Amino acid sequence: MILFSAIIFLVNLKLIYSEFYQYNSGLNICNMVIENRLNEIVKESFPELLSYSFSLEYDEVKDGFAETWETSETSYTFTLDSLFKEADEGVVIGLLAHELSHITQDIGYSKFEVWFDNFLYSRFPKYSLLDERNTDLTVILRGYGLNLLKLLRYIEDKYPEYVTEGLSVNEIKILLNSV
Ligand SMILES: [Zn+2]
Repeated sequence: MILFSAIIFLVNLKLIYSEFYQYNSGLNICNMVIENRLNEIVKESFPELLSYSFSLEYDEVKDGFAETWETSETSYTFTLDSLFKEADEGVVIGLLAHELSHITQDIGYSKFEVWFDNFLYSRFPKYSLLDERNTDLTVILRGYGLNLLKLLRYIEDKYPEYVTEGLSVNEIKILLNSV
């Protein structure tokens, strides 16, 4: 029975997004300060997500530098690569705003739509490109464009081999200056 429950739990624990890049390091440490800030960001800028709970952990991320896990119907956990423990709060907020923007774009999807969206994202580069660019636009519209810029500069510095699928630094600057 315990084994059966464990299997059901693992089946339900769905990996939703991962940002691409390989990096190895780190322990699994929860950061309460950033987690409190995360809940403030939801309250201030993503009110449609208020009925969900969010937690944050740092760990080794094999295929990227951030992963979003749907841990229940109303809760998500963000796993950030351990290197982000050393990043400024502004950088981490940029990454969390990006992950929240992914969730907000897909909110209300049926189970099939979630599966189909993940299928298209993983199989068709043009689809994932469009998805990432739309996600970055949402980040800017919700007021976290400067954090997104800080995030991209941090990634350029710490993950030089990473090629962004989202907006470029120049595109973000143009959008921020046009406000
Ligand atoms: Zn993304």
